[in-house]
Amino acid sequence: MHLSLGRRFVGALDDMKNVRIHITIIVAALAVVAAVMSFPARSSPAQALRPKADAFAAAAARNTTLRNELNWTFGGKQQRGWYLYDSLIGKTLNTQHDTTTSDFAAALAVWQKKTRLSADGVLDENSLMRMISQWQSTRLKNRTPATPDQLLTVPPADFYDPGRAAELRQVERNTYAAYKEMIAAADKDLKLSPKYLKIVSAFRSREYQDQLRQRSPNSGSAGLAVNSPHFTGRALDIYVGGDPVDTKDSNRAIQVNTPAYRWLVRNAERFGFRPYFYEPWHWEYVR
Ligand SMILES: [Zn+2]
Repeated sequence: MHLSLGRRFVGALDDMKNVRIHITIIVAALAVVAAVMSFPARSSPAQALRPKADAFAAAAARNTTLRNELNWTFGGKQQRGWYLYDSLIGKTLNTQHDTTTSDFAAALAVWQKKTRLSADGVLDENSLMRMISQWQSTRLKNRTPATPDQLLTVPPADFYDPGRAAELRQVERNTYAAYKEMIAAADKDLKLSPKYLKIVSAFRSREYQDQLRQRSPNSGSAGLAVNSPHFTGRALDIYVGGDPVDTKDSNRAIQVNTPAYRWLVRNAERFGFRPYFYEPWHWEYVR
């Protein structure tokens, strides 16, 4: 009796020990599972950036408003918002993120820091103006008019208007070679209707430019500038959609969203072409 009680007692102690060991094993196993589950999350780059991106949530909200509403002036004209420049801005910041996201604001902050602006991730007037001057600084600096030997008369098929007169189909030689290379590459990447990326206008002589200005004396647009980059034969107006060369916001909004324009923003630089941000069709060969 005593013996059996004692055995039962010992047996009960053994059971408790087993339960305790089981609990210990279960707790240890759960700890391992938890560690394994949290490890890849903690070490993945997206998770590592998450707290940083969250810090830019307020900047993203500001950007969502400023993208459509920021008031600024360019060329003596009141401008509203910077949504027309989404692609160029993305290219400058080397980010594909939508301009209204925290990730975009974080990428902007990196650029702001490099540019010694306040790295708040908000694309305000100050940052926009700095970005525009960066874009403008990459354009043709030498606007010396082309001499006749620097110009080629190129086939009508390269032009948006194939009926364009021969004297209006002249392009600086190196510019034309680079242009042909560029559109061959675009042809490989995109299935575009043939009118896209055709030349609307290239070399314009000072005389021709003067005539244009006399015909529309109130036009202060850069297209009819007194010292036009088109004098060099290195500036090409290229068809990117919509009305070919109309600066109205509604027209440019169409142009900046075409696959042709977006392709140029991503690729034209490889071929030596730089944009004029305000005119989606105007590209300058700077090599
Ligand atoms: Zn132009």
